Amino acid sequence: MSHTGSTIKPIEPAVIPRPQHPISRANISPNALKVLYRLKDAGYQGHLVGGGVRDLLLGREPKDFDIATDAHPEDVRRLFRNCRLIGRRFRLAHVLFGREVIEVATFRALQEEVQDNSKERHVDEEGRIVRDNVYGSLAEDAFRRDFTVNALYYNIKDFSVIDYVGGMDDLNAGMLRLIGDPETRYREDPVRMLRAVRFATKLGFRLHPDTERPVNELAPLLGDIPPARLFDEMLKLFMGGYALANFEALRHYKLFGPLFPLTEQALTHEEEHFPLTLISHGMENTDRRIEQEKPVTPAFLFAVFLWQPVRERARQLEAEGQHPAQAMQHASSQVIAEQASVMALPRRYSLPMREIWMLQLRLERKGGRRSLRVLSHPRFRAAYDFLLLRGEAGEVSVELGQWWTDFQEQHPEEREQTVSRQSPRKGRRRGGRSRARKSGAAI
Ligand code: ATP
Ligand code: MG
Repeated sequence: MSHTGSTIKPIEPAVIPRPQHPISRANISPNALKVLYRLKDAGYQGHLVGGGVRDLLLGREPKDFDIATDAHPEDVRRLFRNCRLIGRRFRLAHVLFGREVIEVATFRALQEEVQDNSKERHVDEEGRIVRDNVYGSLAEDAFRRDFTVNALYYNIKDFSVIDYVGGMDDLNAGMLRLIGDPETRYREDPVRMLRAVRFATKLGFRLHPDTERPVNELAPLLGDIPPARLFDEMLKLFMGGYALANFEALRHYKLFGPLFPLTEQALTHEEEHFPLTLISHGMENTDRRIEQEKPVTPAFLFAVFLWQPVRERARQLEAEGQHPAQAMQHASSQVIAEQASVMALPRRYSLPMREIWMLQLRLERKGGRRSLRVLSHPRFRAAYDFLLLRGEAGEVSVELGQWWTDFQEQHPEEREQTVSRQSPRKGRRRGGRSRARKSGAAI
């Protein structure tokens, strides 16, 4: 496709008028409408674009709404008090309405357009765009987007859908296709490989063969992506209801290794089957919880992914003579540090994750007074869920998990009896000291 520079003829987009598509004002977020109309009233173009349009056309509920405009970020800020400019790579305006964020992006120009404007667009040796703040027209903006189905614009002026890239046909065919030359587009931004997987699983779309082909080979380019960005992508991949499908697809395309190198290593040299089973069950559980609108935390996901590397490291340290708890502490620190060099792992998640791991040691020794103390630990519930996963994966006995299930369900008095039964000496000392004294019994 050569729609660039001065060589191109003006490109005529397909315009799908209002009655021929299902988008109406009624299914767009009122806040997004507010932004669109304020831009329009100030004399700017404003179009809904990206996932919002794509999902509405598919009859799905959009996660969020993105807007493309010819207003520059500073212009947008002038129009909206509740506006924040963000991003280095692409400068974007976020218009904030309570918890809802409407992302407003200025039309971007095509790469070839700006050779004489190199200050504003930087490409590194791998062909990766590290800064991209060159503004263009709507047509150019369309070709800068990643997939054809993500480059459909809903025009607030006449309620039509504008399609420069054949996105409508691909949408109807269930096809995910990169715009332009796939290898170049992946090199410009390797995260597009992760996005390809994420959209394919979420929408149930196939990757176009040309879009699919370069991925295996280019997957290692993810190694150059800043850890913070990989963390954001990991959340989108695993906290959106398609964790299992994404995990499997990422492994298939060799994209999992660059995200979790230690885990990939453990899975490749796997001697026992449970590391893989544990992750699969963990992903399945996560998806189920999201479907049931129960909370999920990245701490638990990380705990699942990194468990096998931590176990192996801890075993090694124990073999070198460390006490089990100490070995687990050290193994955790090492694995966290290595993982964090690839993908950000904020302390608010790594701390609870460590606790989940440490509690496994205590949960493995069921019975006795200390069981009661574990029960009141703030991280007990997560650690217990984790133990059940290990049971399902065959790493610990299912009975162990069952014991903790029963123990929690017991009435507090019954629980007392359970712990006294299982550590009678301590139990008697506390509960029956005076009686024991009176009767003169030796303890
Ligand atoms: P989601 O449902 O996850 O929000 P989305 O398609 O809206 O999906 P966003 O990350 O919100 O994805 O991005 C909005 C739009 O911006 C995309 O649809 C796409 O057109 C464009 N875009 C986002 N990331 C890239 C990228 N890395 N390269 C090119 N275009 C991108
Ligand atoms: Mg979006």
